[in-house]
Amino acid sequence: MKKRKFETEVIHSGYNAWEHQEALAPPLYQTSTFVFQSSEQGEARFSGEDPGYIYSRLGNPTVAFLEERIATLENGERALAFSSGMAAISATLIHLTRTGDHILCSSGVYGCTFGLLHMLEEKYHITHDFHAMQDETSVREAIQPHTSCIYIETPINPTMKLVDLEMVARIANEKQIPVVVDNTFCSPYLQRPLEFGCDYVIHSATKYIGGHGDVVAGLVVGKQKAMSELSRSTQKDIGGVLAPFNAWLLLRGLKTLPLRLDRHCENARKIASHLKQHPFVDTLFYPGDKDFPQYSLAKKQMQQPGGMIAFTIKGGKQEAQKFMNALKLIKIAVSLGDAETLIEHPATMTHALIPRNEQRKMGITDNLLRLSVGLESWEDIWRDLEKAFSIIQNQ
Ligand SMILES: *Cc1c(COP(=O)(O)O)cnc(C)c1O
Repeated sequence: MKKRKFETEVIHSGYNAWEHQEALAPPLYQTSTFVFQSSEQGEARFSGEDPGYIYSRLGNPTVAFLEERIATLENGERALAFSSGMAAISATLIHLTRTGDHILCSSGVYGCTFGLLHMLEEKYHITHDFHAMQDETSVREAIQPHTSCIYIETPINPTMKLVDLEMVARIANEKQIPVVVDNTFCSPYLQRPLEFGCDYVIHSATKYIGGHGDVVAGLVVGKQKAMSELSRSTQKDIGGVLAPFNAWLLLRGLKTLPLRLDRHCENARKIASHLKQHPFVDTLFYPGDKDFPQYSLAKKQMQQPGGMIAFTIKGGKQEAQKFMNALKLIKIAVSLGDAETLIEHPATMTHALIPRNEQRKMGITDNLLRLSVGLESWEDIWRDLEKAFSIIQNQ
């Protein structure tokens, strides 16, 4: 049978109305526990002989609809839902490492992931290195005998540097080291790391997958065996599982993922080209820009360049803050992937906990701003930015 298209799967996969009282929308099973018809049935559920539900930390039908849908969208075998992106990341990293192991990371990671890596090092002697991963030889050299996983963000927040997923996965597969990719910035509509040979895909579903700024959630997708192990170990016993209502919101958000992302990307393309020409902008970091150093890699592994843009403005922290304060339509907020255009200052916000010298190495300067381009009319977004530029220029 011919595979259904992505635009169809976001709406239909994982849920069958005929099995649920013909309800068009997936029902919300807002329940903590499930009743057994007999003690024997209870025993059979615990032994696994009867696959029915037991207790919502171990599984819930609404959450299961979402897990099946995201597994299909990422082209994986199974997915697990978590209470936040960080719950998904911490469960995965704790599952894949033990004392004495080493994690090889891309040159930048999300701020709280950075914090988690430091905690793992301090408490459990699990070390890590940040590596640019720009060529095969240096990736091979960076892998240590105790490297137990490779952890990648691409594009890297906030400077949008890319890592070649196919290249890293090829090396890692040879050495049987699992590759974990935080795919939050792309969503499965723009990039599917499992198709390049990576092993685990993680999402902060709080961002593009939810898409409406009203839910915090995380997802992990991978092979059946790996997901069963993850579910039995760190998901079940650490317990950062997704609430059924939040799964319900994500199922709703997912239906419009391709529509929203097409608009995010189109708006970002227009805003980026205007920013590039503006005399107050120094450097533009946007994978869709023809002068972006990894423009061809972006074309190879991303369906579209995404809705995130970073740029530096003339001046320093003071100018950056004045510029943000002069915006009216665009809101100052962290998070991303929402309908509203959001701006933030990585050096003092999302990446504030990273020491200054590390920030510099990651390209996070005081005049760098990160823009999550929303779904408004691009002309209104640009007008707001242009006005803020003119306000600080005239000061
Ligand atoms: C937001 C984010 C996270 C953390 O997700 P939460 O849902 O906030 O826990 C992880 N990685 C990236 C790239 C993010 O943007």
